Amino acid sequence: MSDYIKFNCNLIKGTVEKEKIEELNYWRNKLFEMGLIGVYENGVGFGNISERTQGNKFIITGSTTGGKEKLDEKGYCKVTEFDFKKNSLSCVGKIKASSESLTHAAVYQSLAEVNAVIHVHNLKLWNYLLEKAPATKKEVKYGTPEMAKELIRLVKEKEAREKKIVVMKGHKEGIISFGKTLEEAGKTLLKYFEESK
Ligand SMILES: [Zn+2]
Repeated sequence: MSDYIKFNCNLIKGTVEKEKIEELNYWRNKLFEMGLIGVYENGVGFGNISERTQGNKFIITGSTTGGKEKLDEKGYCKVTEFDFKKNSLSCVGKIKASSESLTHAAVYQSLAEVNAVIHVHNLKLWNYLLEKAPATKKEVKYGTPEMAKELIRLVKEKEAREKKIVVMKGHKEGIISFGKTLEEAGKTLLKYFEESK
């Protein structure tokens, strides 16, 4: 199962609904200030945030935006189609979608009541949640079709649906929160973050 399938993003040049960006940026700015979205010393960015528009389409932060302090609408794209097996998706915007977009897609496809997904990195919170929240299996690596499959399984479980947060055991520091609204997903994350301190 370890065959590596390259993530493939088909970018269609276009624009993203501006009105959605304001709320996404409100939460992204907050999480960036807290260091939950950001960039590692080696230059690799982490953390992404998305909101459903309609059906299983959603707006998400673009690839390699983790280190940017502020984003405008050019830093976001709309995922319009995705294929877990092929590890590929199509998006509309000016920037390619985050390579972790299929993780978000897995949550939207599994839970109709969810309209917002947040993925952050934080070691302390990750360790805390390994004891407190449902976890993806250790052997499942991020950015793989297996991770999408694993999330589809996990988020449908009662505990995950109730807590609205899961931890990615095979993706060090990786955490996913979700909710009916961005506010719910954001507040859930902050509640656990405070508890973990
Ligand atoms: Zn990650």
